[in-house]
Amino acid sequence: MLQASDIYGILKNIGVTHLHQANSVITSCTYLRQGGLVSRKFAEDHKLQQSAQPTDELDKKYGIWHTIFVPHIDIHDRQGQTKAPNLFGPVLFVLDLEVLLRLPAGANVRVTKRSPAYWFDTEPDSARWFQNAEEVAQNLSPDEIHKMPAIQVPSGKLEFPNRRARIILDDPQRQLQSGENAYTHAEARLREAAAQGKVEVSIEQRKCQMGCICASKYATWSAPVVDFYFG
Ligand SMILES: [Zn+2]
Repeated sequence: MLQASDIYGILKNIGVTHLHQANSVITSCTYLRQGGLVSRKFAEDHKLQQSAQPTDELDKKYGIWHTIFVPHIDIHDRQGQTKAPNLFGPVLFVLDLEVLLRLPAGANVRVTKRSPAYWFDTEPDSARWFQNAEEVAQNLSPDEIHKMPAIQVPSGKLEFPNRRARIILDDPQRQLQSGENAYTHAEARLREAAAQGKVEVSIEQRKCQMGCICASKYATWSAPVVDFYFG
């Protein structure tokens, strides 16, 4: 059985300092109003706004609809591979690794062996998830994007510690169909949602690394797609 403190220790040993979750502005505003990251199932059960994700059907099929995935790398910023927008969205919640040491009672942390997008229907649980701390320690590296920590919280909500949230927000250098600047609009919506949720939020504009192709990627997005993620 994996303990959250084991995973904390393993991640800390390989130099990881934060966990992450990327989302659209709509879903991120729901998190801020709720005071924490919530599972897809929690948002659905409580009829909260969340935008569709490409993995939703898989998450339901594989029984991880109530799981909160918190990759230990910032996918947009990842070293050594193509740096580009995170396909889950331009709003990145950054959590201190210590969140793993203060999980609510009954919470469960696991680490995927492969991203659920690459799971097979017939394989056993042991092919999808590391089964013990030794396996995790032997296989997890700081730039691994498919082996990622995932948290299940009985309530479905992982509260922001001390009601404080840190966000890195992409500037796509685009306008919404309303004519508003996408970044300015997104930031204003996030701040408004944080005020509603009584969350103290810090929002930093993403500073891309050399070689990041996000500006050219965002330039190719259709107007409805920009609205979908930033509106
Ligand atoms: Zn970038």
